[in-house]
Amino acid sequence: MPPSGRRGPGGPMGKFLTEEEKSSQPKVTPALLKRIFSYLMPYKLQLALVLGCIVVSSFFTLLPSILTGKILDEGLLKGDLNALVRYILLSLLVTFLANLIGLAESYINTWMAQHITFDMRNQMYRHLQEMSQRFFTDNNQGDIITRMTSDIDGVQSVISNTFSSILSNVVTLVIAMIAMFQKNWILALIGIVIVPLFSIPTRRAGKTRWSLTNESQECNDEINGILNETLSVSGQLLVKLFGKEEQEYSRYESANRRMIGLNIRERMAGRWFFVVLSTFTSIGPMLIYFVGGLLMIRYHASLTVGDITVLVALLGKMYMPVNSLLNIQVDWIRSMALFTRIFDYFDVPVEIQNAPDAIIPSQVEGTIEFSHVGFSYEPSRKILKDVSFTLHAGKSIAIVGPSGSGKSTIINLIPRLYDVEEGSVMFDGIDVRKLDLAFLREQIGIVSQETYLFNGSIRENLLYAKPDASEEEMISALKKANIYDFVEKQEAGLDTLVGNRGLKLSGGEKQRISIARILLKNPSIFIFDEATSALDSISEQKIQEAIDPIIRTHTSILIAHRLSTILAADEILVVQDGRIVERGSHKELVKAGGVYTQLYETQFSKALVEPENEGLSELEQYIWGQQPADEPG
Ligand code: ATP
Repeated sequence: MPPSGRRGPGGPMGKFLTEEEKSSQPKVTPALLKRIFSYLMPYKLQLALVLGCIVVSSFFTLLPSILTGKILDEGLLKGDLNALVRYILLSLLVTFLANLIGLAESYINTWMAQHITFDMRNQMYRHLQEMSQRFFTDNNQGDIITRMTSDIDGVQSVISNTFSSILSNVVTLVIAMIAMFQKNWILALIGIVIVPLFSIPTRRAGKTRWSLTNESQECNDEINGILNETLSVSGQLLVKLFGKEEQEYSRYESANRRMIGLNIRERMAGRWFFVVLSTFTSIGPMLIYFVGGLLMIRYHASLTVGDITVLVALLGKMYMPVNSLLNIQVDWIRSMALFTRIFDYFDVPVEIQNAPDAIIPSQVEGTIEFSHVGFSYEPSRKILKDVSFTLHAGKSIAIVGPSGSGKSTIINLIPRLYDVEEGSVMFDGIDVRKLDLAFLREQIGIVSQETYLFNGSIRENLLYAKPDASEEEMISALKKANIYDFVEKQEAGLDTLVGNRGLKLSGGEKQRISIARILLKNPSIFIFDEATSALDSISEQKIQEAIDPIIRTHTSILIAHRLSTILAADEILVVQDGRIVERGSHKELVKAGGVYTQLYETQFSKALVEPENEGLSELEQYIWGQQPADEPG
């Protein structure tokens, strides 16, 4: 919740802390304040101007009240028309200037607040970009977006409302008090005592209203719930069939009755508030008139009528600032909580960092070596255990295994989406942690299970991989990915929009576009995480035809669920429970009669005997025609 209440200025909700806010109040330390201040430092000049404007405009706002004394004493009572006109004009001028300076202050303040949030937002985005995959899987996406949007927007309101209101209220009070004490210390003291007396009941009335509003909100939710449940088609059917009309009616009636009671109390709490308000606002001036009069008439104090009028006017100017300052604690706690939440995000350490002396090799072969790799997402549960294998340049490896065995985890370690805990992953003989991160990721192209396309055209999605790709290059990639026929048929061709997350395309089409995207990227190593979800056989065949030549000609790793893909690889690794339990060719593994044979019997071969596999690729038909033991080497 941002400070000063999102429900609008002065709204009853904004003025009090919720139970949750009370229990999780942030610790305000000098370090926190210093850190907040560091965001203001680049705008020192603007800050100084804002401070200056606040002081001057607060003074100018009070000046007409002080001048009232002069108008009375020197103009009216002495009958000096010149003085009267002079002070009236001066009052008008000062009021105009106060407003003008207020305008300048609000412009500079808004400008400064906007720039500070601009800096913060950029810094946060940069920081979030550096976060590891772990951060994004551990944190709720909604929370991340809230941090980026409403929380940072809240900062703007803290700077332009909370901070400046604290300051202008304090300045107004100080100036008013100095002016009052100059006139008469006894009356000034009365003023200081009377103002908080007025503010406290105001606050109490506000709190009552606030809790009534909360209660009636809950009651309203309950009524809506009953209506939604019982006045829907299926709800009514249930009510009728079980003969619950009377029961539902009395449930509704009692909630409705509670609601009107609350509404009446809420309205009356408002009235009570106004009674208190008007009584206290008139007690103050009357007391000053009375005591002032007493001092003047009985004790012949050196007081004028003008002085007493000034004191009454200044008293009137003190109510608002005192009231705001009494409420400021709520805004202050919320503001500090807001900054603490934002800083907590800034303080999440960057897990995957570029090594200080990161290496960019001049030549790339594209060999991957896992050496005794151990890894876990959470400390208590080891996911990968002693995984070792080598993928030589130009070769391909298929990783197979039951769901959840750790196949995707293995490939996540190659582009350093996560770092290993034990052992090492090497690229061309260099530990990936020592390589330049941008270089490493440039070498690797992943087509993941969940294809992600940005909301835009096919062209824009392709250019994301290679911004300077020519039309010919794009068409060639689309052809290789077996999707050009589809693109060509679209009215807008390459400019066809893919919709949000590519939802306007079928799963198979999306996959093939993402294959084209990877082809444009042209990495040294291709990684395919084959989707487990079933695509229709035509789609599968098209994807197969796109992937197959890539596997045969490029260094590649496949997480495979289909026999056809598995057979295209040079070596098969069987992963079970985070370990490589078998490795070899299809023929060898089937002969061994272990985990692979079981997987083969339960998963891979089943996919091939399904009757709808009419549109089998040539490769699949070929395999289908073979006995497992006779598969091509
Ligand atoms: P599938 O074939 O179903 O895709 P997989 O073999 O690729 O499975 P992984 O995705 O590597 O399996 O997951 C291995 C284990 O790690 C699973 O038990 C999974 O629950 C767990 N896991 C995966 N990602 C995370 C994560 N971000 N945080 C915690 N645990 C995770």
